[in-house]
Amino acid sequence: MEFGSDGGGRIPDLPNTPSLQYSNRDFRHMQIIERIADMRRWSEGERRQAHRIVFVPTMGSLHEGHLCLVRDAKTRGERVVVSIFVNPMQFGPSEDFAKYPRDLRRDRAMLEGLGVDILFHPTVAEIYPDGYQTHIEVENLSVPLCGMVRPGHFRGVATVVAKLFNIVQPHVAIFGEKDYQQLQIVRRLVRDLSMDIEIVGHPIVRESDGLAMSSRNAYLTAEERRAAVCLSRALCKAERLARRGETSGAVLLQSVSTEISQEPLAQIEYAKLCDAETLQDVERLRGGAVLALAVRFGRARLIDNRVIKH
Ligand code: AMP
Repeated sequence: MEFGSDGGGRIPDLPNTPSLQYSNRDFRHMQIIERIADMRRWSEGERRQAHRIVFVPTMGSLHEGHLCLVRDAKTRGERVVVSIFVNPMQFGPSEDFAKYPRDLRRDRAMLEGLGVDILFHPTVAEIYPDGYQTHIEVENLSVPLCGMVRPGHFRGVATVVAKLFNIVQPHVAIFGEKDYQQLQIVRRLVRDLSMDIEIVGHPIVRESDGLAMSSRNAYLTAEERRAAVCLSRALCKAERLARRGETSGAVLLQSVSTEISQEPLAQIEYAKLCDAETLQDVERLRGGAVLALAVRFGRARLIDNRVIKH
């Protein structure tokens, strides 16, 4: 059921999100839109009134990290659109598309509480109708880091983001720095395709013990949850070393893997020091670099990163 990397652009049968019948009675201030044509009509109307539309794309199962992006969005324009779409194209065949946590009732209440104007919630068939075969590939930036272990993932991300931008027609779009590679890919995509959209990166939102918030944290057992703090601890430790003058990538990465290896439940997928823009490996800290991690705990795959300026 690989969607992103079979090279043929074939769209297999996918578990679809059932179309929900909404009663807008309980959610007077937030409109829920499922159809592309309705979304476009709304955006065109707002643009005609010179309202600045700020867009926050998500896959739902919202947590405080998402909500911080939404609050940020409220300060950057007159109208806020949040999308919830679990995008099958960015999941590999052995990944968690079907099992990805979904809780629309809770999500819409949270968004309503923040004064979001539109929740855009299309079905898979609305986004990828029969015969769909067009993909966007941001070539070099999609290769390293998560691209190495999730073939086709960023092609799926770039394709859906380009589509959502075309549909929602925002002036500004906000993405979390937690998905650092995704943010760089979206910035490049917008530049390369001459889209007139300002891309804003929002800092990583963390739990009080440092764990980066993520919908996938729900997969962690209590024991894994305790162990997962080692990601942010390792990044903090490496950053302290860098602040004290260490510039060797090998030394910084050694420190990261030593810290994480102390947790028997943690399996490092990658730990890399990369140029903050090109994402190519760097051997020494010079200018902006990013320390990026992917670590598995049981069925959860967690990512985290820290930009280190020198
Ligand atoms: P997702 O629903 O996981 O696709 O995430 C939707 C958006 O929220 C993406 O731009 C993510 O980078 C962002 N996001 C998710 N978790 C966090 C977090 N802990 N801090 C900042 N942004 C986040």
